[in-house]
Amino acid sequence: MDIFDKIIVGEIPSYKVYEDDDVVAFLDISQVTPGHTLVVPKKHVDDIFDYDKDISEAVLLKLPIIARAIKASDDDITGINIQSNNGTSAGQTVRHSHWHLIPRYDDDNLND
Ligand code: 5GP
Repeated sequence: MDIFDKIIVGEIPSYKVYEDDDVVAFLDISQVTPGHTLVVPKKHVDDIFDYDKDISEAVLLKLPIIARAIKASDDDITGINIQSNNGTSAGQTVRHSHWHLIPRYDDDNLND
């Protein structure tokens, strides 16, 4: 079991912000900005290269829903970056597909 499998089954604690039959979303342990969330398919797939139609629908259709919920949680959130690293050359450190939802604030200075 990888670390995200353990989070999915509750073996490792996490702060979950969304969960349904197909995906779980929880706060990243290392917050790029406050509210930085990872969206993870419950079915183990290493990366996007293994996505079939079912997993694509299960995960990708949820991104706008979860993004809206994150934005609604804080009036100061004015934007969001969505990123998925696929493959070690792309910076993927956990080999269980996931999507970073990084809330943006007018004063977060990330563009500097
Ligand atoms: P990657 O580098 O693969 O794109 O992203 C992996 C992410 O998982 C990193 O942002 C890292 O902070 C996060 N992460 C790693 N281990 C844990 C953990 O045990 N709990 C949580 N909530 N996030 C984790």
